[in-house]
Amino acid sequence: ESHGSKRREKVVDLAWRSLPVSERLSHALVKGITEFIDQDTEEAMHELGKPLAVIEGPLMDGMNVVGDLFGSGKMFLPQVVKSARVMKKSVAFLDPFFEKEADGAKRSSSGKILMATVKGDVHDIGKNIVGVVLQCNNYEVIDMGVMVPCNKILETARELEVDCIGLSGLITPSLDEMVHVASEMTRLGMEIPLLIGGATTSVIHTAVKIDPEYAEPVAYVPDASRVVGVVGKLFSSEKKDAYVAELDSEYTKFRERRKGAKGPVLVALDAARANKVSVAWEGYTPPEPSFLGTRSVDVPLADLKEFIDWKPFFNAWDLHGTYPAILKDAVVGEQAQELFEAAIERLDWLIEQGILEAKALVGFWPANQVEDDDVAVYADESRSIELARLHHLRRQMGSGEDLPHACLSDFVAPRDSGLSDYIGGFVVTAGLGAEDIAKAFEAEHEDYDAIMVKILADRLAEACAEYMHQQVRRELWGYAADEQLGNEQLIREAYQGVRPAPGYPACPDHTEKATLFELLDVENHIGVSLTENFAMTPAASVSGWYFSHPDSHYFSVGIIGDDQLREYAERKDMTLREAKRWLAPNLA
Ligand code: SAH
Repeated sequence: ESHGSKRREKVVDLAWRSLPVSERLSHALVKGITEFIDQDTEEAMHELGKPLAVIEGPLMDGMNVVGDLFGSGKMFLPQVVKSARVMKKSVAFLDPFFEKEADGAKRSSSGKILMATVKGDVHDIGKNIVGVVLQCNNYEVIDMGVMVPCNKILETARELEVDCIGLSGLITPSLDEMVHVASEMTRLGMEIPLLIGGATTSVIHTAVKIDPEYAEPVAYVPDASRVVGVVGKLFSSEKKDAYVAELDSEYTKFRERRKGAKGPVLVALDAARANKVSVAWEGYTPPEPSFLGTRSVDVPLADLKEFIDWKPFFNAWDLHGTYPAILKDAVVGEQAQELFEAAIERLDWLIEQGILEAKALVGFWPANQVEDDDVAVYADESRSIELARLHHLRRQMGSGEDLPHACLSDFVAPRDSGLSDYIGGFVVTAGLGAEDIAKAFEAEHEDYDAIMVKILADRLAEACAEYMHQQVRRELWGYAADEQLGNEQLIREAYQGVRPAPGYPACPDHTEKATLFELLDVENHIGVSLTENFAMTPAASVSGWYFSHPDSHYFSVGIIGDDQLREYAERKDMTLREAKRWLAPNLA
């Protein structure tokens, strides 16, 4: 039982209280213990005479130990975030005493780094973690938050004379925004390095699209554990040149490979359409939803617990492996177990407090496939008034021998089949309240808890999508009334039908979320909205379409041809330029 072992730990733990104060501070930092931090900090200040001496002495020594242990793989991200909390609490205790210092002594940092999630994007978990890791290593971090326009980022960077800018983003349109920021840095003649990070960013995109826009170093940071190494080299007069040369040759390799590559084999759009997913519509009866139009549902958080997919939770904390195996992993098992217990505790707290809300909005409409790749959504069963037109993209990659050239519209009965088919749509969020809780924790220097709440809110949103999808299959659309699937089978998608999300591989165009949100009348039902780049805010939200047909499945559109790009632009009533911008990740 975990209680027993915790109590045992406590007994052993207290021995460190009799160490000299500097060692106690170091111990508290490495172990992430905040319990005695104020009293130890105060004692150290009296002993050393000045607040600055505490920071530059025992605190920095302790953080160096943390940095070394993390760098050598002996400490993991959750522990580092806990260490940062101890550091911040100690510094917060010292802060008022600085004002009383006659010489106005300022602590010196190893460098000033501005971080921001770019315009139109709202995700900041990775950025916050990177910020904490940097602070742990004595860098001063100026975090501008989310949805930060380029000019604000660059103005602030110049005003505060920062040494480096770090950009973060989750959705694909942010890739383009980062290219824009880089080109603006060139236009303004800036001379500081640029860091790139976030889920959709990649070393290839950095090499091919961002780096050529800016002559100063542009470094791609794949995860939080790398950032200190990268910044350390960029800020070191001895190591910088060699590192920049290394980056250059790596990026050049990517660019050349890309130039030399022929791109994937594509079939013409006509040929792709001739090889669509062949669904036997004849004799098929589409299931009828239990209602048409929209319905909102409040989902009790407690009901979502069993629907959580924990693997991405550990991933978010940079612990890699599958759940539950990760809890017994030889290397990260102990950390994973401790983190998991903390997560369950925090989750139960969120459920008890009732400050976090999960809401779902679901809709069903009569629908038919029309004009090859579109889906017409009708106002009612007469199918005479078209409410909306969904535009989908068709896969053109591959010869078609192994895989059909799929398009999501293939899964809806064609208009000329005469069948009365339907489509569903949903948006769910567990983010209502999450941001406020996280902010309150941040204000208390409780980064660990702030990050934990955000990661859990993301998990709850995904769990809510899973839960609602099950409700839809069993009752609301009701085509699988007897379905009995466990959590693991749900994660494996062992069910009938899919819930593809705009912005994901089968429907990569984020702009289609606008149609989904209009159909559901989201603004009037649930507190979720879209940014100018179609990110959902609050961040812990999920949306998508429901397809019921047994043959419907997830696939990837991948790279499309110029023929489809042009036709799609026409169908969407976009200029070619606009279409190219939104579909950039799908163009060769
Ligand atoms: N259990 C995971 C699910 C996330 S990914 C979690 O909790 O994080 C699964 C979701 O992403 C799917 O439900 C679907 O909405 C979307 N998705 C996955 N593959 C997709 C694809 N090829 N095209 C469109 N959406 C996809």
